[in-house]
Amino acid sequence: MKRLIVGCVVCTLFLATIAAQSRKPAGTSHNGNAFRFNKVSEGVYHAVGTGSLAVVGNSSVIVNDNDVIIVDDHVSPAAAWVLLEEVKTLTKKPVTTVINTHFHFDHAHGNQIFDPTVQIIGHEYTRQMLLGNPTGMPLYQNYINGMPGQIETLRKRIADEKDPAAKAKLQTQLQVTENNYASQKELKPTPPNVTLSTQMTLFRGNREIQIRYLGRGHTAGDVVVLLPKERMVMTGDFLTSGLSNMSDSYPQEWAASLEALKKLDFETVLPGHGEAFTDKAKIDYFQAYLRDVWAETSRLKKEGVSAEEAAKRVDMTKHKGHLPIQAPGIPPIAATRIYELLDGGGR
Ligand SMILES: [Zn+2]
Repeated sequence: MKRLIVGCVVCTLFLATIAAQSRKPAGTSHNGNAFRFNKVSEGVYHAVGTGSLAVVGNSSVIVNDNDVIIVDDHVSPAAAWVLLEEVKTLTKKPVTTVINTHFHFDHAHGNQIFDPTVQIIGHEYTRQMLLGNPTGMPLYQNYINGMPGQIETLRKRIADEKDPAAKAKLQTQLQVTENNYASQKELKPTPPNVTLSTQMTLFRGNREIQIRYLGRGHTAGDVVVLLPKERMVMTGDFLTSGLSNMSDSYPQEWAASLEALKKLDFETVLPGHGEAFTDKAKIDYFQAYLRDVWAETSRLKKEGVSAEEAAKRVDMTKHKGHLPIQAPGIPPIAATRIYELLDGGGR
């Protein structure tokens, strides 16, 4: 009887590994590797896209004694599928767990390729948002609606391009965009099947993996993943190497929540966009930006300026020494969001 039970457990794990990739999604073809796996500690990798496939956000791969944990699973079923294929070059251990840092499409739209036996962990709010209508939200709508036009433009540019090297580059861009579009058509937003509200800790052999909610910020349900022994933190879009999208954010609370991040003991940040870094001053720079963008946009609203006009006029160039800002203006979606919050709205 005992042997039978052990047999079944092994069998279930085996089936889960196979089923995690049982049906190949559309749009996976690409040339060369789609990911660079930057090793940041023994068994911990920061997976950054190479550009041969649309992956958009970064993920992190945590290889434990007996299993693998993935933090964020990219922009599409195709991107998550290819990630799993390339993870096999690092380890043959099964992926048992996925952590979504937040609900945004470039971090959680690979969820559907995982078998239901794989634990997908996220904040309660992330589950709520992915169960709702995430593809109807402006951020995703802007993304998907732009694609047919981009494909059309690339086709025209390829036809007109005489230089073979430039033509080949454009052809790669076209392939990347067409594949992404094909995969988006198969999208079925899939929520976490395990949720937390403040904190959860996973133990894998000697490794401890803390999942922490630090307050509202980039969304109302971002979590960070802290590896206390390795002194590293995976931050998704709560803290990136540059500016984060603000469409679902709470800028004032975000600055305060980042204060809670500072209190954690870590040395290295593996962000959801951009390369890993150790410079903690980046948190201060981003907090200063958030406070200023809130103050400046609020001031313009009080003066009766429209959100559209404010987006053009809000001048954050004084932060350009530390953040990628070239000229006055903020994304319209950021101005709209701040206006919405000032009017007492917002999710
Ligand atoms: Zn995001």
